[in-house]
Amino acid sequence: MRILVTGGAGYVGSHAARLLNQSGHEVWVYDNLSQGHREAAIPGRLIVGELLDRKRLAELLREKRIEAVMHFAASALVGESVTNPAKYYQNNLVASLSLLDAMRDAGVSRIVFSSTTATYGAPRVVPITEDEPQQPINPYGFTKLAIERALSDYASAYGLAVAALRYFNAAGASPDGDLGEDHDPETHLIPLVLQVALGQREKIFIFGDDYPTPDGTCIRDYVHVDDLATAHLAALERLEPGQMMRLNLGTGRGHSVREVVDTCRRVTGHPIPAEVSERRPGDPPELVADASRAFQQLQWQPRYADLETIVETAWRWHASRPHGFQS
Ligand code: UDP
Repeated sequence: MRILVTGGAGYVGSHAARLLNQSGHEVWVYDNLSQGHREAAIPGRLIVGELLDRKRLAELLREKRIEAVMHFAASALVGESVTNPAKYYQNNLVASLSLLDAMRDAGVSRIVFSSTTATYGAPRVVPITEDEPQQPINPYGFTKLAIERALSDYASAYGLAVAALRYFNAAGASPDGDLGEDHDPETHLIPLVLQVALGQREKIFIFGDDYPTPDGTCIRDYVHVDDLATAHLAALERLEPGQMMRLNLGTGRGHSVREVVDTCRRVTGHPIPAEVSERRPGDPPELVADASRAFQQLQWQPRYADLETIVETAWRWHASRPHGFQS
């Protein structure tokens, strides 16, 4: 299939684009490189451009005879979405509507969309199923939910075939060390902890240890980025016109912040000093996926089911590229 991957020079998008390419699909990466890295894109397949440029996008979809879109491009920092919501409504919601309309202009009717656990807000029940009410608690989550709604309406009205994949915490790196996480600024737990092991930070701050969890720190479901990529491919193969799949992607296993720090200590052999600090606003205590629907509908099972292996792949990446793609 000929596939356009928006945000294909970013963290999850680059891993997915590579897998699609290796699986024999013709992949084009569309990325404005505001956060993505030229080096992360498939060589010779990067088109630098804006999603808001609907006319150019529609021309490109026609010219490359694109049959499906994987839409990763987004701004994805919860805290920033609170202080700068305009950026999020523009880059996520308005840009996605522009993409959808360019797809209509060009007659492209299949899309796999990166959604998020942030659309659930602070869930009542954990593990979280897809039937949990979506009540976001920050602008990032609202923009992703609004896009899901648009996709659902477009599926019903225009026959679009949609998969909205709600990721839990994307983590790890490709085991060969070619691709990995490289955000600026970095805000995610695992890369920050590993930066301490690399001597780039003095210590890790644990954001709150008075949550209602066994060790008092927040629990998250860390899912390997290559497993996310595999799920995208599986979803693409099962898209149905006029229908929308909504699937959680996680391992179903939760790990506390302290467990993550301990695992990084074991993997790196570094003592990794840690200090408890204030809670980070907007962090729910526990987010763990019930991903049984993805298991049933996609026959998808994470290959990297344990945290230690996920951290090992991340460590290999960060240790070999201590300054990310610039190294
Ligand atoms: N966290 C932390 N210290 C940090 C960064 C993150 O204690 O320096 C915690 C954060 O509060 C959350 C978990 O680690 O409970 C995962 O955060 P991350 O930003 O990686 O992902 P999120 O869950 O926000 O998508």
